[in-house]
Amino acid sequence: NVFSQTNSQKRGNLQNVNKIIAVSSCKGGVGKSTIALNLTFSLQKLGFKVGIFDADVYGPSLPTLIGKEKQQLYAPEDKPKEILPIEFNGVKTMSYGYAGGNQKAIIRGPMVSSIVIQLVQQTQWQDLDYLIVDMPPGTGDIQISLCQELNFNGAVIVTTPQRLSFIDVVKGIEMFDVLKVPTLSVVENMAEYVCSNCNHIHRPFGPGYMNMLQKQFGIATALSIPLYGDISKYSDLGSPVVLTLPEDHTINNIYRQLANS
Ligand code: ADP
Repeated sequence: NVFSQTNSQKRGNLQNVNKIIAVSSCKGGVGKSTIALNLTFSLQKLGFKVGIFDADVYGPSLPTLIGKEKQQLYAPEDKPKEILPIEFNGVKTMSYGYAGGNQKAIIRGPMVSSIVIQLVQQTQWQDLDYLIVDMPPGTGDIQISLCQELNFNGAVIVTTPQRLSFIDVVKGIEMFDVLKVPTLSVVENMAEYVCSNCNHIHRPFGPGYMNMLQKQFGIATALSIPLYGDISKYSDLGSPVVLTLPEDHTINNIYRQLANS
């Protein structure tokens, strides 16, 4: 059972968080943060208590994706080490982006892991069914430290259909394997688009490698999300697409499948 890990292994304010899921990619710009956020709200729609932690210190995008760029970190006066999460639509969120300041661009590698781990452990998540962690892109020291400290129950890997991305996904699956984190699903993003003139489905990056991935690594769920203008439009407006589009929209259906997996 992939969820057999006990909560006693979780530290700080994560003790009452039932499952911690990493959303990961090897490269930036593939849609990882967008998918992490929309997966969070899809889980909420299924009735779960959910939080999202943006673990990217160098390029935190969560505050922009939910229109909270001006939000500041807040801790109660009597408990300065207990950071309060920022709520958005009933979901608890935390990001280094709320810390503001320009110093974040010059933090050295080894400091980053400890800052990120401190931030997630000091946030008052309280009882959650799921905490979604939007990982920094890559498979380096920071990602490995996060895996070791947070004891993820599973990982979702986000990619695009090019061959180079496939090679990266394999790296990602292998990293999680070594760290004993099961890869629950792989999401191929921006896989195809439907021409608004002729309705033809184009796959600009080719057929992709999802079947091969599933066969080779036994990943239970492999999903494709189309390149779709509204995803980027609503993300820029700070309005998560699964909260904005109608329930029966294709994009919402795909996210529901991901949340159910
Ligand atoms: P990452 O976290 O991997 O760096 P982001 O989630 O920030 O990537 O997405 C990068 C950009 O691509 C954003 O502008 C986002 O709105 C856009 N985007 C992501 N997925 C899609 C999609 N399926 N269709 C259209 N635009 C997308």
